[in-house]
Amino acid sequence: MHETLLHIKQFFKTWTGRDNRWLAVPCTIAALLVLAVAVKSCQGIVYLNSNEHKINRLGYPLEEARLLVTVLNEAQADSLIARQEHDTLAVPLVKERYFIAANFDRYLAYHKRDTLGASTSDIIAVVNVGRDLDPEEYATHCDTTKGYLMLVNRLHYLDENYKPRHLVTINKNFTYEENKADSAAVEAFVAMQEDCKQQTGAQLMVNSAYRSFQQQISTYKRNDKRFVARAGKSEHQTGLALDITSLQHPMRGPFDTSAEGVWMRENCHKYGFILRYPKKQSHILGYSYEPWHLRYVGVKTATRVHDEGITYDEYYAFYIENS
Ligand SMILES: [Zn+2]
Repeated sequence: MHETLLHIKQFFKTWTGRDNRWLAVPCTIAALLVLAVAVKSCQGIVYLNSNEHKINRLGYPLEEARLLVTVLNEAQADSLIARQEHDTLAVPLVKERYFIAANFDRYLAYHKRDTLGASTSDIIAVVNVGRDLDPEEYATHCDTTKGYLMLVNRLHYLDENYKPRHLVTINKNFTYEENKADSAAVEAFVAMQEDCKQQTGAQLMVNSAYRSFQQQISTYKRNDKRFVARAGKSEHQTGLALDITSLQHPMRGPFDTSAEGVWMRENCHKYGFILRYPKKQSHILGYSYEPWHLRYVGVKTATRVHDEGITYDEYYAFYIENS
């Protein structure tokens, strides 16, 4: 500081030809004040152009505008600003557990056209699983490199040539007719049916397991379309899905409420299975409740899906596609 003053003194000495320390100090202060005002003005101009300010002006309190700017990327924030309106659901959506920033526009669009008053968590779930998208336009190939974690549904399909690599025949004691499935799924089923038998006295039976693309075409034609997927969009083609009832309750309805049916739903995750189409989320997936349809995903994933109480489609969108 002392050295700076000496420099300024020298400057004034050169300029005025005199050694005038009393002129140097106020001039320096004045110069610094001008500089401070200039910096402040620049900051003001920058702020007026910031997304935080623009979002704030749409009616979002400053704290909410800051949160939105932090969570959304530049393009998403621009898109929110372009809407030119305040959406009361924007901030509650961002705070949701399974919020995916890339889906932000679609959440708001869904909310806008929703007439049934869906909750924020339902909007998040419905959009994350792609129920807001038209399969005719948005369906893509299933990523089979995900192995046991692959997702097959209306938006993710298998082509007619896909065949699982590790198909094995299920022991005839556990099926009514010849059925094949992935070896890991069969091994897990054998362990599960053994424990189920010990604890409930009932024998679990596999009604249907692997179905080829061609078999699925005829299954679709023969059955209730509410419960059967079109060829290429059925999990049964993965070899990882099993339709199960019991020897004691072979019909699907009675099996649902039977002791072994209840036991299977409560315990299947311990063996690596998930209930693929649960009752309480049928409005999210758009698939009817299927208490008999289990899907093998491995113990770790099945336990997490079970513990978090979400569907596999939601799990896949949030933990696999989003990461
Ligand atoms: Zn099934």
